[in-house]
Amino acid sequence: MTIPHLKETDMAVPASETPAATNPYGLHRASWLVPIASPPIENGAVLTAGDRILLAGPYRKIKAESPPGTHLQDHGNVALIPGLVNGHCHLELSAFQGRIAFPKGGFSEWLNELLPMKSTMTEKILQDGFHEGLRRLTLGGTILCGDITNGLCPRPKPSHCFPARLDFLELIGFNHMSLRSAMEGGGFEDIIRNADDPSLSLAAHACYSTSAPVITEAKEWCRRKGKVFTIHTAEHTEEVELLRSGTGYCRALLKTLGKWPPCWAPPDMTPVGYLNKLGVLDDRTLLVHAVHMTETDWEIVAGKSTAVCFCPRSNHNLGVGKAHIPSAIRHGILSCLGTDSLASNVDLNLFAEAAQALRDHPSVPAGVFLQMLTLGGARSLGRDTEYGTIEPGKRAAILAVSVHDVRSPSQIAEAIIHQGNEGAIQWCKHPASD
Ligand SMILES: [Zn+2]
Repeated sequence: MTIPHLKETDMAVPASETPAATNPYGLHRASWLVPIASPPIENGAVLTAGDRILLAGPYRKIKAESPPGTHLQDHGNVALIPGLVNGHCHLELSAFQGRIAFPKGGFSEWLNELLPMKSTMTEKILQDGFHEGLRRLTLGGTILCGDITNGLCPRPKPSHCFPARLDFLELIGFNHMSLRSAMEGGGFEDIIRNADDPSLSLAAHACYSTSAPVITEAKEWCRRKGKVFTIHTAEHTEEVELLRSGTGYCRALLKTLGKWPPCWAPPDMTPVGYLNKLGVLDDRTLLVHAVHMTETDWEIVAGKSTAVCFCPRSNHNLGVGKAHIPSAIRHGILSCLGTDSLASNVDLNLFAEAAQALRDHPSVPAGVFLQMLTLGGARSLGRDTEYGTIEPGKRAAILAVSVHDVRSPSQIAEAIIHQGNEGAIQWCKHPASD
């Protein structure tokens, strides 16, 4: 994907007649303001002070309320939107970009190619990939991500760089019977020591790869600390088969890896039913994928106020099926979009993710997907006091997306997704520039 309108130099503070040191205020006008928290405003503006939003609304009103000497930047025929939120990615797998051909014929075909390749990757390659992934996220308009890590390479603390991250340390181990034993050797002791850092949390990989005791202990730890917990759920039929009957690819794989517990018996449930039985579903759990869901599963997720992150392009590339997003919407489930990793996707462009979702579900209004890209992601990661909308008090992370021939608010969301997918974006205001 090319991003012709965005250069890394755009991260710098926009030119201002008044130096930021003496006047921290900036007034940003555009033909459209899309606050997400409220309807689009034609001829809108945002007043910022440093890295915070002070006011947002109709241009004339905001201009009248701006302090004397505020520098005006007219961004012209663009829509101002909040920086995007990637609900689920694996930045330390970014070095895999372009190494695996898509589409695959299913999860097993993909994993059989990935695993041997993974063992050849050095820490240096993975670390370089991680930083390239961060850079790509910023170029694509992302300000916050939920990032899964297996501790494969050193990484900067989330509070020290952008995009902002919620780092989920992922627990794997179908044969581990406690959180402590699953953490051994993973370099995860750090998270326990830094338990009060709001940028760190725990994830379990999936019901077919992480044991019930580890899943429940990890969730309990998150619950005690008030942190969001996440887990890949109902991604492929192999997962469903293992939980239903204890047979199939997952069983064979676990046996090959020497991780099959001989006494394990299948719960004969769906992945969501199983997680519900384990007591890990609540409004601080984020399920990722949700491709193979029953109507009862959707009802359970809705009843527990659990959030879901959809990754339509990853699912398409692996050939695992298509999540029925309209069901989540019908049930009022908090939803967001994620790119997943560059081992299962071609880029980290969230606009492309929304464009795929629109193609898959043309009956869903584009505004719903724009909401998922912003506020839905921020809420799912528990960061909506900082990100997700253009509102007073939030971080001044504002994107400008070129829009042409938009005559009414009803056309704006689709135009934003398509133009964003074409790369017609620019950071109007980025917190790193303050
Ligand atoms: Zn994933």
